[in-house]
Amino acid sequence: MSNPLLAAYRYTTNNWTMIQESRLCGCCNCMQTFPPDEIVGWTGLDFNQVDDPVAVAKQTAMCPRCGSEAVLGDKSGYPIDQPFLSRMNEAWFQRTLIRPSKPKA
Ligand SMILES: [Zn+2]
Repeated sequence: MSNPLLAAYRYTTNNWTMIQESRLCGCCNCMQTFPPDEIVGWTGLDFNQVDDPVAVAKQTAMCPRCGSEAVLGDKSGYPIDQPFLSRMNEAWFQRTLIRPSKPKA
């Protein structure tokens, strides 16, 4: 993929393994950084999967600061810093979620 922001975004889901191997994580929504052991919320697993290592590895991290599923770890190879998180934030949350309303007919 040519756009590094698009490529980075896929690391914000099913990222349990990557987060475990990261030393620093950041959130594309609130743009805060935190160590991986601050992440206590995960989505994507239900009670009958807790012993399934494949399902566990596909959990998605929730940001400990804002609760968004928008967490990246430095293991992804991307810089977890303010300039990068701010670019991710702009590219995704602002452009994809806030759209101009259609003109009324
Ligand atoms: Zn956040």
